[in-house]
Amino acid sequence: METATNIAAAPRVNPWVDQIAAYVPGKALTSDGRPAIKLSANENPFGPPPAAIDAMAATLPNAHRYPDGSATALRAAIAARYDLEPARIVCGAGSDEVLQFAATAFAGPEDEVLMTQFAFSVYPIAARRVGATPVVVPEREYVADVDALLAAVTPRTRMLFLANPNNPTGTVLPRAEIERLHAGLPPTVLFVHDSAYAEYLEGEADYTDGIDLARRAPNVLVTRTFSKIHGLGGARVGWGYGPAPVIAAMDKVRGPFNLTTDAMAGAVAALADIDHAGRSRAHNLEWRAWLRAELAGLGNRGVRVIPSAANFLMLEFPETGALTAEGAFKALMAAGYITRWLVPQGMVRNLRISIGTEAETRGVAAALRGWVETVG
Ligand SMILES: *Cc1c(COP(=O)(O)O)cnc(C)c1O
Repeated sequence: METATNIAAAPRVNPWVDQIAAYVPGKALTSDGRPAIKLSANENPFGPPPAAIDAMAATLPNAHRYPDGSATALRAAIAARYDLEPARIVCGAGSDEVLQFAATAFAGPEDEVLMTQFAFSVYPIAARRVGATPVVVPEREYVADVDALLAAVTPRTRMLFLANPNNPTGTVLPRAEIERLHAGLPPTVLFVHDSAYAEYLEGEADYTDGIDLARRAPNVLVTRTFSKIHGLGGARVGWGYGPAPVIAAMDKVRGPFNLTTDAMAGAVAALADIDHAGRSRAHNLEWRAWLRAELAGLGNRGVRVIPSAANFLMLEFPETGALTAEGAFKALMAAGYITRWLVPQGMVRNLRISIGTEAETRGVAAALRGWVETVG
């Protein structure tokens, strides 16, 4: 009786919150606590643009003042850079927060939120925290399956989260497939096109970052981030662009001062540093291709490298035998390289490796090949 009383007297966690499997961030230390080369979070190996560091530092003496809650300067800079209307932009503490705003404004209990089988792990959290049900749709060969996504729509579907290119697979859907997907969705379903890696494909004719669709469609939201090519993951800046009513609803659920003054100043400076972004893109293209070619030789041992359009490569290890993703993860860790073994995504056979500096990329390739040779 007493136990029952005690349980009844305790605050009750919302049941939908109880169901959240917490996000597992990329590690920064090896298992025995040594600092290591972090290739687990798709960060920019060049660091932040120097101008962004200066801009952030310059704001610090004013840290006693509240930030501009409307992110006026940042939205103006984004609008100018991408030819958008500032009023249709919402900023978040990382695009993670923008994804949360979207779910909070457009989904709730009894609702369904579509996502692909190997989706960004924030999506199920965003859905569950508002009591909605994540509906996970099978992919084909690690690529989003438009027909399967459309077949999964029910009267309860409120939203679709799709990262393009996708994380953790690195695969991309061409523009025609994105347009076919959008055309097949009911207009009542909010299509969230997460373009976190869009800058790595800049100029590719067959790719859309979704912005052209969001300009004209009443149900498309594009999300972007400063965490990847702009090298500001620690500053937490992301943004969304969508129809005015969608943005207005998201603004209502946004905290009044959700971005810090220094982070916004850093982002404005980063956006202006076209050279830093260009260098980062060129470096990524070169070393992603190099790493892919270097690891292609492991194909005869059954290790596949999945083609990637982003700043990382995903590997698939054989179904049986000693050559496992877990073994590779541990061997690389012992060699001082932290990669991402994708167990939290239910991908026991997969390892994701971010593209680092030249030395880091050469080093991780050598360590992986060396380990494979020791495995019989
Ligand atoms: C890294 C990433 C983001 C960005 O997250 P931030 O909160 O902006 O740091 C968003 N979506 C995907 C798919 C990502 O991989």
